Amino acid sequence: MIQADRVVRSTCPFCGVGCQVDLHVKDNRIYRVDAPFDSAPNYGMLCVKGRFGIDYTMHPSRLTRPLIRVNTDEPRSAPPVWREATWDEALDLVADRLGSIVETYGGDAIATYACAKSTNEDNYLFQKLVRAVLGTNNVDHCARLCHAGSVTGLQLAIGSSAMSNSIAEMEHLDTFIVTGSNTTETHPVISNFLKRAVRKNGAKLIVIDPRKIELTDFATLWLRQRPGTDVAVWQAMAHVVVTENLYDEAFIRERTEGFDEYIESLEHATPEWAEEITGVPADDIREAARMYAKAGAAAIYWGMGISQSTHGTDNTLAITNLALMCGHVGKPGTGLNPLRGQNNVQGCSDSGGLPNVFTAYQPVTDEAIRQKFEREWGGVTLNPKPGLTVTEMVDGALEGRIKGMFVMGENPLMSEPNLAHARHALEELDFIVCQDIFINETGEMADVILPATSFAEKDGTFTNSDRRVQRVRRAIAPPGEARPDWEILCDLAKRLEARLGFQTTAGWDYSHPSDIWEEMRRVTPDFWGITYERIDREGGVHWPCPSLDHPGTPYLFEEEFPRGRGKFWSLEYGTNSEQPDDEYPLILSTGRVLYHWHGGTMTRRSALDTIWPEAAVEMHPADAERLGLQTNDWVKVASRRGEITLRVLVTGRSPEGTVFIPFHFAEAAANILTKNQIDPRAKIPDFKVCAVRVEKTDPPVGREGVDIPLTERGAITDRAQQVH
Ligand code: SF4
Repeated sequence: MIQADRVVRSTCPFCGVGCQVDLHVKDNRIYRVDAPFDSAPNYGMLCVKGRFGIDYTMHPSRLTRPLIRVNTDEPRSAPPVWREATWDEALDLVADRLGSIVETYGGDAIATYACAKSTNEDNYLFQKLVRAVLGTNNVDHCARLCHAGSVTGLQLAIGSSAMSNSIAEMEHLDTFIVTGSNTTETHPVISNFLKRAVRKNGAKLIVIDPRKIELTDFATLWLRQRPGTDVAVWQAMAHVVVTENLYDEAFIRERTEGFDEYIESLEHATPEWAEEITGVPADDIREAARMYAKAGAAAIYWGMGISQSTHGTDNTLAITNLALMCGHVGKPGTGLNPLRGQNNVQGCSDSGGLPNVFTAYQPVTDEAIRQKFEREWGGVTLNPKPGLTVTEMVDGALEGRIKGMFVMGENPLMSEPNLAHARHALEELDFIVCQDIFINETGEMADVILPATSFAEKDGTFTNSDRRVQRVRRAIAPPGEARPDWEILCDLAKRLEARLGFQTTAGWDYSHPSDIWEEMRRVTPDFWGITYERIDREGGVHWPCPSLDHPGTPYLFEEEFPRGRGKFWSLEYGTNSEQPDDEYPLILSTGRVLYHWHGGTMTRRSALDTIWPEAAVEMHPADAERLGLQTNDWVKVASRRGEITLRVLVTGRSPEGTVFIPFHFAEAAANILTKNQIDPRAKIPDFKVCAVRVEKTDPPVGREGVDIPLTERGAITDRAQQVH
């Protein structure tokens, strides 16, 4: 076995579980990754991505020098021609072009993407640059595209959108519901804790999901609702709780408001009404409601299946109504738990990477809060108007209101819905700068590319899905001239200030990310008790943590909700999702597979791509038979927005009438098909329901030979071959 020069403790860069990893380093290469057995949250466990997917950091296509686009006289969508540049040249150009847009059109003509993969410190500085120097609140990130429905719903109901309970509590659950989350593939280590709760401790699991995900094998009860009909299921469960007097009267009286009006709105929502809409047998709805309501403690976990919908806010409110009614919040083993996707999507939001709030959700519209940041940031005057969300930024570009875009580590041309629309919007921009570790689909349209460092090449903190702030530590040197995001941002901020003729007295001189964290603590009461020294000693600290002797907060809302009382919201079931018809007769749902991560920028440059090298469309055997299709056949999947070509995997995982496509594969990008229709409150698009057509076709040129037959792709896929 190779002897390591060093073993560096850090945090996994993929999903929101935030597993602690030990990076074994020799000769500036990471050659092995394992997990410490004594460290929360994963206690020795890692999934395939954390253990074998980190080699992307050493991929030969890593960016090593700044790049400036040469063929600027051609349309932005033309294949880019780059020349290498010095840092001075590239940063001067970015400062000049962004500065010129600010001078001509104002800061609100610039749209910016913070990064759910970068550290808290990187994101804090990013939003500081956007707000204090560019003078706009147009900063958002991919949380808008994954959990905005959860965030908005939870804020309306209880005033806080974070996961309310810790990962450590999962193993000891009594009863729990998993809905809209294929946890085994999206949060694999969390799913291990959930499975242990069932197998070792006899916990009862209710799965509410249209797909036959692996957790259904562990479930006491599986409700298989039609895609997009979630509200009806939850409303009917609440109806049962009310009619059978299973609600927690004391909790409702002491901790909530609006219950009487709410139950009036439930009158029609019988289990039989819901069966008509959802296809779930009424008696199963009754049984699920009784099981949840009668439990001593019961938790609810959900994923993007709930939030990524034109009614994602209503879905979340329906879930929250049930939890409040049963008093299953504010105690160990209870709670409302949206499982966050990216490694630092929680932290990016906490650090102010949102258009309406500074750190830890302090509103930009609150004058006293603004004044606090103005003082800390050196006497600037901050914009009180909330900025645009990412979906609004794309539309703003198309309408000419947005002229420039600064994208740090994100890839809207894979993650936005209706990609042709998004591409067209970006073509309209005067200037795009991307700061990243690879050139991704968005980078190919940029004017300037700034090479950044991966998680393994920098220091800082990530905040995982259960609000635990953990360290990221530099293990290897960056390739070439790549620099950490925070260093690039400081350098750029100084140049922008010079270009715009002012200087914030606070300056941009930090010697280490810990200096940035100290500034974040000063302006954020919830972070005040968390220091680097403390994280190093304790492994991680859950915020809120208001003082140095505070233990941190593994579960929230013990005494009260941030909005005071939890609010019941009356809901009307209805859907405006695109429904199947004669022309497009199937429903498309999108999501992840175990071996890949989001837009694939990282995992498709890792060893994992050899195991799962291509997209496949999952299709029910009855649909496949009707269309004369078998596993491995090539098909064209078309919607009203566009079409993609990929192979078929015939499986009983998705229900009849619904196909599923993972969104990791640029050559068959699922978001070419999805619709840019959004939830009116959360502004999140519908990635789970749109109408498509599938027809047999020839393999596309260059993609004829695929070594691994789809049917041999590991145990999870094998299980999926069974028809249920
Ligand atoms: Fe990384 Fe998530 Fe896998 Fe843990 S479960 S190793 S955090 S991808």
